[in-house]
Amino acid sequence: MSHRHSIFCILPPHILQEIARRGSLAQRDLAIRNLTISAEVRGYRQGLAVTAAKLDVTDALAGKERIVYDAQNSSVLPGLRMRGEGDPPTDDPAVDEAFDGSGATYDLYNEVYDRDSIDSRGLRLDSTVHYQRGYDNAFWNGRQMVYGDGDEDLPEADRLFNRFTIAIDIIGHELTHGVTQYEANLVYNNQPGALNESISDVFGILVKQRSLGQSARNANWIVGEGLLTSNVNGVGLRSMKAPGTAYNDPVLGSDPQPGHMDDYKSVPYDNGGVHINSGIPNRAFYLVAYELDGLAWEKAGRIWYDTLTNRLTATSNFQAAANATFAAAKQLFGQGSLEQQAVQMGWSEVGILVEDTGNDNPPPPPEEPPEEPQGCLPTVKSLLGF
Ligand SMILES: [Zn+2]
Repeated sequence: MSHRHSIFCILPPHILQEIARRGSLAQRDLAIRNLTISAEVRGYRQGLAVTAAKLDVTDALAGKERIVYDAQNSSVLPGLRMRGEGDPPTDDPAVDEAFDGSGATYDLYNEVYDRDSIDSRGLRLDSTVHYQRGYDNAFWNGRQMVYGDGDEDLPEADRLFNRFTIAIDIIGHELTHGVTQYEANLVYNNQPGALNESISDVFGILVKQRSLGQSARNANWIVGEGLLTSNVNGVGLRSMKAPGTAYNDPVLGSDPQPGHMDDYKSVPYDNGGVHINSGIPNRAFYLVAYELDGLAWEKAGRIWYDTLTNRLTATSNFQAAANATFAAAKQLFGQGSLEQQAVQMGWSEVGILVEDTGNDNPPPPPEEPPEEPQGCLPTVKSLLGF
C-alpha cells in the first residue's frame, strides 16, 4: 500500500505573507529566509517518499514507541538521538515537550479510540527539534515530526514566535495529519483540504483538553496557545469557538477564518484556503461538543473519529462530512439521540443542513485522488506577490 507524503506545516502561509510585507526589517528578513527553507524542504521531500515507504514496514512495532532527535540547528533529519521510550527527561524543554506531546497524542488515540499509533500498527513516533535556525514552523513530513525554535535569533522586541513544541495541540494537530494520511487521505486543497486541516485541529485540541482534564465548556478552544510572543496582539493561531478572533496584529494581520458558510473564502493561495475555511467545520465541532458538555473526546470526538476512519473519502466536502457525522452519531448513539441532534444543530449553526443519507455503512474505498499540491509549502513568488 502506498501513501502520499505531503508536508503539512502548522503555520499558514498567509501569516508569513503578512510578516514579509508588514514586519520590521529583521522580521521581513526572517520570513523570507523561512520561505527559502520551505523550498529546500520541498526538494528534500522528493527523496523522502521512497525511504518512508521502507520505514513504514520496519518501524511497525506494537505499542507506544517514541524517539526525539536534535537537528542541532541543521536541516539534517532525523539528527542526534536525545530521548527514547523509557528514558528520563532531558534538560532541554523542546526535547521533553516533543516527547510528552507525542505521548499524549498516542494515548488519546490508543486509550480512547483503541488505535495503535498513527498507522494503527504501532508506527514509531519520531520527532526532531531544533530544526535549522530561526525556523518559524513545525511540520509532519509523512514520516516524522519536525519542529523549529521560532525566531529565537531576533532581538527580543522583534520576536513573534516561541518554540513550536510549546503548544501540545500543535503536536496533536501535526500527528493527526499522519492519521488522516492513513485513513480518509483527504486531498489537501479546497473543502477536502480544509476538512483535513479541521480534523487535525479537532484531535489536536482534544489532546490538549485531555492533558489538562478540561471539559468542553471549560476549555478555551484556542489552537496554538502560547506560540505567539507577547509582542503579538493575539492568543493563538486559531479559535475553534470563534473563528476569526485569534489575533489582530499590525505585523501578523488579522485572523482570516470564517465561522459560517456565508463567509466561505475562495482564495487562490493556501491551497484554496485550507487553513482559512477550516474555521467552519472547526466551529461545528465546537458547537457539538459544547452542546453535549462533558469531555469532548468521549462523545463528539468519538463521532468525528468514526467519521474519519470509516466514512470520509479523499474528496469529501463539508456537506459529506456533515452527513457522515450524522450517520456516525446514529450508529454510535442511536437514531434521534441527543448526540445525533447535537450534530445536526452544530452543522446547521455554521450553515450546513445535514442530509440523512441513511448510510450506516462505510462508503466504498476512495478512488485514487488527483495529484495533490505540496502541502503547506507555497512558492516564494506566490507569497511575495511577484
Ligand atoms: Zn495542518
